Amino acid sequence: MNDIDYDRLSTAELNAIHAQLLEAYEAYKRQKLSLDMSRGKPCDEQLDLSLEMLDIVGSGDVLTDRSGLDSRNYGGLDGIPEAKDLFAQLLDVSPSELIIGGASSLTMMHDTLSRAMLHGVFGSSLPWGKLPAVKFICPSPGYDRHFAICELLGIEMIAIDMLQDGPDMDQVEKLAAGDDAVKGIWCVPKYSNPDGITYSDEVVDRLARMETCAGDFRIMWDDAYTVHHLADEPDRLKPMLAACKAAGHPDRVLMFSSTSKISFPGAGVAVMAGSENNMNFIRKQLAVQTIGPDKLNQLRHVRFFKGPAHIEAHMKKHAAIIKPKFEMVLNLLETELGGKRIASWNKPNGGYFISLNIMDGCARSVVRMAAEAGVTLTKAGATFPYGHDPRDRNIRIAPTFPTLSELKTAIEILCLCVQIMSIRTFLNRRGANG
Ligand code: PMP
Repeated sequence: MNDIDYDRLSTAELNAIHAQLLEAYEAYKRQKLSLDMSRGKPCDEQLDLSLEMLDIVGSGDVLTDRSGLDSRNYGGLDGIPEAKDLFAQLLDVSPSELIIGGASSLTMMHDTLSRAMLHGVFGSSLPWGKLPAVKFICPSPGYDRHFAICELLGIEMIAIDMLQDGPDMDQVEKLAAGDDAVKGIWCVPKYSNPDGITYSDEVVDRLARMETCAGDFRIMWDDAYTVHHLADEPDRLKPMLAACKAAGHPDRVLMFSSTSKISFPGAGVAVMAGSENNMNFIRKQLAVQTIGPDKLNQLRHVRFFKGPAHIEAHMKKHAAIIKPKFEMVLNLLETELGGKRIASWNKPNGGYFISLNIMDGCARSVVRMAAEAGVTLTKAGATFPYGHDPRDRNIRIAPTFPTLSELKTAIEILCLCVQIMSIRTFLNRRGANG
């Protein structure tokens, strides 16, 4: 049933295909499967790649950092020097422009915006929470947990479109310049979640240069997938802090990253970066919040990863494990959905997701149908602010965690559901029209 434009088939033909697909779907349902594809988690084999790290910082090892500070004790508010060096190289900033945190960059992003609401950011005249409204630009589809932070803090979200090279900058510039309540934008600039898009140099420059009505506008630059390549020719992202400095807006960007999907999610090292003004402002506040981060874990990471070249080699091992999974999903999408004009999807060069767009109005029903056959997908709408996908068409596929055979079954079921719902949509339209 390849390369058939469903809309050109007769109603009888469509009904016949629908019956066949439904039979296949019901057969899967009888298998009582339980496959979870909802979150982008590394699989066991990937986690095993970093296991030796756990043996590196033991009772017999030197536990002081380069400055002589004992990592077993309090202190070192913004991280040990060797960890700062490592992340500075990864993020194209200098060590003084970095704060190493705990295990989660999401926590750092949440805390950054919470503090902005309570106290403002460097250069604010008022805490954001004292203003009548605070709004954020949210390129969509995007990362659901970013949107959840805004929702929790009462920051109004304005969804704008993602294009092939990043957010629709015409929309972004208009919003940022037109309203002083617009205080920021969420960006996942490399191998974006979920589209897998890397921002072009032009998008980076326009973000750095644009007029903003709010003087304390911030770009939340979540570079979570900065070294997570799948292709042999990795995407290259123009360094954002340098672009902001060159544009005369050095304080505009706050960058975040972590080793969650390099070493261990939940037990990695997270980091934020930005101008010294921004970092000093935050260091003062952090000193009230904590006496220091987990320096033993930082030592473990630095001793295991050594430097960017070693991280690159390590990420190639990750890619060798997950690339076949991405390829399998892409091949199945092509054979099952290709040529039917019912779906489109991206082929990412890195990151953790494949973003599937199906016919308008079908995503929620497809996710529900897949769940009834035992396949849990990310909730439809989750990739949009307030969980509302205006076209109800985007489905985020997270291929890394399941085994290849589980993944195959899950995607076969997903493709069946997409085809069934598409045919129903065509049939309904015909019914409505005639
Ligand atoms: N940002 C993005 C874009 C992500 O996809 C994820 C993980 N799913 C995170 C942040 C979470 O990072 P961390 O584990 O450092 O909190």
